[in-house]
Amino acid sequence: MGSLQETQLPQFEFLTKKPYTPPSWAAHLTPTPSHLFSLGHFPTPIHKWNLPNLPKNTQVYVKRDDLSGMQLSGNKVRKLEFLMAEAVEEGADCVITIGGVQSNHCRATAVAAKYLNLDCYLILRTTKDLVYRDPGLDGNLLVERLAGARIELVSEEDYYRLGRDELINILKNKLLGEGRKPYVIPMGGSTSLATWGYIEAVREIQQQLKQGNVVGATFDDIVVACGSGCTGAGLALGSRLSHLGAQVHAYSSWGSPDYFYDYAQGLLDGLQAGLKARDIIDIKDAKGLGYAINTKEELIFLKEIAEETGIILDPVYSGKAAFQMMRDMADDPAKWEGRKVLFIHTGGLLSLYDNMEAVAPLVGNWQRMDICR
Ligand SMILES: *Cc1c(COP(=O)(O)O)cnc(C)c1O
Repeated sequence: MGSLQETQLPQFEFLTKKPYTPPSWAAHLTPTPSHLFSLGHFPTPIHKWNLPNLPKNTQVYVKRDDLSGMQLSGNKVRKLEFLMAEAVEEGADCVITIGGVQSNHCRATAVAAKYLNLDCYLILRTTKDLVYRDPGLDGNLLVERLAGARIELVSEEDYYRLGRDELINILKNKLLGEGRKPYVIPMGGSTSLATWGYIEAVREIQQQLKQGNVVGATFDDIVVACGSGCTGAGLALGSRLSHLGAQVHAYSSWGSPDYFYDYAQGLLDGLQAGLKARDIIDIKDAKGLGYAINTKEELIFLKEIAEETGIILDPVYSGKAAFQMMRDMADDPAKWEGRKVLFIHTGGLLSLYDNMEAVAPLVGNWQRMDICR
C-alpha cells in the first residue's frame, strides 16, 4: 500500500494552533498571547460602500467582518482565535459562556468549540415564562443546537439576582465535580486577551492599504458597533499604536458611553497599555429604544441599505451603528466632508431571523407568476 508520509501533506493554515507574534508596534503590551487558532477566513474584504446621501466627497468603505467565516461568526471569531488557543493550552475539555438568548457570541463559541472538539455549555438569558420551554430554533439558536451546544436557560430575574459570574460559577463547579475541565469565556468574549483580535485586525487593515485596494493611503475614521467596547478598544489601540491614525468611533447598542469608556479602560489596563480610553476612542450612543429593540425608522433604514447597496446589516449592532453614523453625517456634514471612513461590519445576521414579524411589512411584494397559457 502506498503510504503518504505526514511530512508530505500540505501544511493547512486553517484550524491549526500557531505561535503568535504581535506586530512590532504592539510588542510592549502585556500579557502577549502565546498562540492563536486560525478559525476565521482572513483578511476579510474591504470595498467601497455606496451609501446614499453622504456629505460632499465623503467616501465610505466597509470591511466585511460579517464574512469572517465560521458559520457567520462576525467579529466574535477574531476574539475566539485567542480565547480558544488559551482554552486548549490550559487543557480544557469544554467551554462555558453566557449571554442573551440570541447572543451572537454564544453561537460563535458553540461552533468554535466543536471545531476544536470541545463541549460547549451556554447559559442563555430569557424571560421568566420561557425558561421551562423548548427555546426553539430561531436565529442563533438553530446553529447552537445543530452544533450540539448544551443550553442552560436562566430567567432574567435569576440572571440579575445572581449575576453572570455567580451563574457561571454554579455551572463551572458542577462540571468540575463531574471531573470536567471547563474554560470560562465571559460575556461577549470581551477580555483583554480577546482585545488582541482587533489589534490584529488593524495589522490586517494596514496590509490591505499597502496592497492598494483602497484609493489613497489611509482611513480618517473607523466606525464600528459597540456591545461591550472590546472590538472598539482593540481597533482604537491598534490605530493609535500603529500610527494608522484613524479616529475610531464606536456606536453603542445599549447602555451609556460612560459605561463603555470604563469597560474599554479596564481592557486597556489589562494590557498595560498606559493609555486613556477617552483619548483614543469616541464612544457614541446609538441604542435608540434599547438593546435589541428597533424603531420602525431603524428597520426601514436597514431595508433601504439592503436594497440600495446589497449589504445586509443586523438589527441589534451594525444596523444601529450605521443608522446613527448616517444621522451624525446628516446633522454635521462639515465634520465628515472629504473624509475616508471605514465601517466594520461586525456580522450578526442570524439575529435578523428573530425579527421576522417586524421585518415582514417592509419587504417587497410578491405575486403568483403570470403564466398566460
Ligand atoms: C458582539 C457584537 C458586537 C459588539 O462587539 P463588542 O466587542 O462586544 O463591542 C457588534 N456587532 C455584532 C454583530 C456583535 O455580535
